[in-house]
Amino acid sequence: METAFFNGNFIPKNEVKISPDDRGFLFADGIYEVIRWYTGFFYDMEGHMSRLKRSLKEMRISWPESDSFPSVAAGLIERNDLKDKPSLVYLQVTRGTAVRTHAFPVQPVPATVYASARSLSINPGMADRGVRVSVTEDPRWNRCDIKSVSLLPNILSLQQAVESGFSECVFVRNGFITECSHSNIFLAGGNVLYTHPESGYILSGITRKNVIRLAREAGIDVRETPFPANRLNDITEAFITGTSFEITPVTAFDDFIVNRGRPGPLTELLRTKFREELDRMIA
Ligand code: PMP
Repeated sequence: METAFFNGNFIPKNEVKISPDDRGFLFADGIYEVIRWYTGFFYDMEGHMSRLKRSLKEMRISWPESDSFPSVAAGLIERNDLKDKPSLVYLQVTRGTAVRTHAFPVQPVPATVYASARSLSINPGMADRGVRVSVTEDPRWNRCDIKSVSLLPNILSLQQAVESGFSECVFVRNGFITECSHSNIFLAGGNVLYTHPESGYILSGITRKNVIRLAREAGIDVRETPFPANRLNDITEAFITGTSFEITPVTAFDDFIVNRGRPGPLTELLRTKFREELDRMIA
């Protein structure tokens, strides 16, 4: 029986009852977080906590118990017997339940808080061989920095990419590469690594931040600068980053093949550094 966390209690997942008047259901008026459990510790809990609090603040959603998230996440791992399994914990906080009207409820209502955990290993084939991505106009709003559950533009764009045989789609806004539907992207031109700066056009990925740190520690010149989409043909390698798949090489953008379709040396170096750091944390 799967155990979930719902509004302050651990209960069987199939007993969670969310009102049809919940603003998450009606308006996607909520935020979320996803954190990875590496059989002994959560990856960068501090980073996830500060992004969670930032999303709540920017959305003006009040969850006074947000500091309880680390113990909620640990409770879910324990209660679902996941201690020895690489897993993901999902948390969603919505503005709560109220009669449907666009403006915030006049009488404040408690946030609806739901969290669950499931085992998910890194897909070794995908991480080793890399993925092909399609390039598409960024259809999203300009607050992509908020980890909001309003993901319709991401979903529609990714679905189109998947139906055309790609694993991810990379967005272009005003002629520059921003990020992907559910990952950040890094592009290498020789020994320089480019990634879009933090702004309303990207989600500040926890993996992205740590990869930038590891790359700089390794002496790589990382530039947080928007990369022009019309220079994609100049890149020597690329990779995407995210909680569920760490660092995954990109082997093609539409029909442009990168590095003869193989993961490049900077990508391989960073994947090794990332793994070595995890091994040190596990030890
Ligand atoms: N950008 C978007 C739009 C995402 O949905 C995600 C994954 N949630 C990321 C970037 C990567 O973020 P993280 O490394 O924190 O998983």
